Parts: sequence; structure tokens; C-alpha cells
Amino acid sequence: MDWLWVWLGFSGFVITSGRWAIRRARLADNSAIQRVRRQFRTLLWLSVGLKVGVLSFAPLYTEPQWGSALLMGFGWVLGEFLLLYTWLYPLEKKARQLDLSKTEYLHLRIGSVSERIAPWVLAGLGLFNALYIMRGGYREDGAWGVLYALFSGLGVLLMGATIGRVRRLPPSHTLAVCEGVQDELRRLAHTLGIPTPELIVVDGRRARRANAFALPGGRIAITDYLVAHLSQRELLAVLAHEVAHLAQRPRLVRFWLLVVGIGVLVSLSLAPISAQLPEWSLLGLMVGLAVLMGLPMLRLRQHHEREADAFAVSEYGAEALRFALIKCAQLNQTQTNRRTDSVHLALEQRLRWLSQFHQV
Ligand SMILES: [Zn+2]
Repeated sequence: MDWLWVWLGFSGFVITSGRWAIRRARLADNSAIQRVRRQFRTLLWLSVGLKVGVLSFAPLYTEPQWGSALLMGFGWVLGEFLLLYTWLYPLEKKARQLDLSKTEYLHLRIGSVSERIAPWVLAGLGLFNALYIMRGGYREDGAWGVLYALFSGLGVLLMGATIGRVRRLPPSHTLAVCEGVQDELRRLAHTLGIPTPELIVVDGRRARRANAFALPGGRIAITDYLVAHLSQRELLAVLAHEVAHLAQRPRLVRFWLLVVGIGVLVSLSLAPISAQLPEWSLLGLMVGLAVLMGLPMLRLRQHHEREADAFAVSEYGAEALRFALIKCAQLNQTQTNRRTDSVHLALEQRLRWLSQFHQV
């Protein structure tokens, strides 16, 4: 179990670096907090990368061993960031005037860390499970092997079904949105040929979150913090963007199934020769497949963002969306020249892209 000690060593490095980043942000102003959170994101991928790297040298032979190591690494990473965000909490609470208890704050932050890495862990577990069943490994392990294959397969399916459904929403409360908005929502959905979405207004005030997102099951969530700051036309532009996402969803799901299907075919075709391949090849296969499957999905989602913006512009004009986006960034105190995630453009780029619609 030497590799566990190496993990522990790297963990020490990640935690010390995070602690150091917090130390330097002692000023507790918002831009310092944003910087720390960006550093945390880099540290997250570094931590994941180091753990996966160590695993490729670990004496793991069977798929259940690989699966357990993967799950353990997942929990380990969450533990590291639980510690880091516990230290960041008092600073961020002060700088952004959050009205969240420590537990609520940690739930929010750790939830988003877990959301970032869970899809990869699931893909890995699914792949190991498929190989285990295909090469008949469960037969060697007897009754335990069959049980493991059954339960881990079922677990992967169940967890996969809940990804995206589990949103870290603070307790929602109803806020009457005027009839005009409901009517428009109905009209927008009709235009795109989808059922009228259910609009949920969630509490964003206490966490200072101005956000809207399309949820599975034809629902759109928007925070009251954002609603309170938008004019009706701006609100409609935001909702039109999200309605477009709901309409795009079946295409996204079909594409995902296609990508997963190709992944399974590649694994299947390699299964007969897997015994001759070197030990690290399983890990190489996993990383390779993750990249090959992840990149086209990312491209499609980036394309969907532009498409959703274009739909909002076609319905309410570029100005409404422009102002809504600017207000959103101001409320969230995000930097205008940096991306907040890999799917969305930075505000400046997005506004530049929107400006092409001015002449129309
Ligand atoms: Zn979007």
C-alpha cells in the first residue's frame, strides 16, 4: 500500500498550497477571494491528476481493486477541499457578505467540486465494470464477484441518472412571477416545440448568487437575487436562453449516447487482447476515452450556448440580453475577462459576440 503514502504526500502539497493562497488573501476583498477560488480550481485538477498518476504505478490488478481506488480517490479529494473551504469560509463570508451558515456554505462549495469530478469517476467505474463483466473476471471471484458486478453496475446507472438532477439549490420559495412572463414562457416553448417549462424561483440572496439554469424534467430555475435586478425584458431574454437549452437537451442526450456507445465499442474490441496489454494500459485507455468522449461534448455545449444566446436575441433583441449578462456579472462580482467555466465565454467575449447583432 505504498501508493497511499504517496497520495498522502501529494495531499499535503495540495493542502499547503491552498492554505498559502488563503494566507495571501488576508485582505478579504472580493477580487482576492475570486483569485483564491481560481487557484483552488487549478489545485483541484492538480490533485486529481497526481492521484491518477500515482495509481498507474500502484499494484492494482482486478477491476474491483481499480474501482475501489477510484472511489477512494474521489472521497479523498472531497476531504482535501472540505478542509480548504472550511478555512476560506470566514473570509468569503465577510468579503461577499454571505448570509450562509458554515454547513450551508460547505454544502454549496463541496457540491460543486463533486459535480466537476463525479462524471469522470462514474465513467471510470462504468468502464471497469464493463471490462470486469466482459472478460468474465466475476467468475474467478465467485459469488462476491457476481455481487460486486451487479451492485457496482446498478450503482453507476443510478448515480448517472442523478447527475445534473442534483443541483445545489438552496431551499426554494415561491415568488409570484407576473402573468405576462408566464404567457411569454408558454409562447417561447411553443416556438421551439417543447412543453411549457415549469419556472422555479430559488433563494440566491443569502449566497449572493445571480443565476438561471435549465434543469432536467423541463424546469427552469432562476434565483430571486437575479429576478429582483432585471427589467421584465431582460428577464425574458434570460428565460429565452434557458428555454433554448431545454429544447437542445434531446440532442445533447442523443449525442452523449452516441459517444458512450463508441466508448463501449472501443473497450469491447480491446477486451480480447486485454490480457496481453501492459498493466498501465487500462488506465491509459480510461484517460484516452475520457478525453475522446469529453472533448466533443464540450464543443457541442459551447455551440449550444451561442445558439441559446442567438435565440434570446432573435426574440428580445441584443440589448436586453447584454444588460442582463452585465448585471449578472456585477451581482456575482465575477471578472469580465475570465471564463467562469469551460462552457461559457468570458463576459467580454460574449458581449463582443453579441455586438454583431446590433446592425440587424
Ligand atoms: Zn446557457
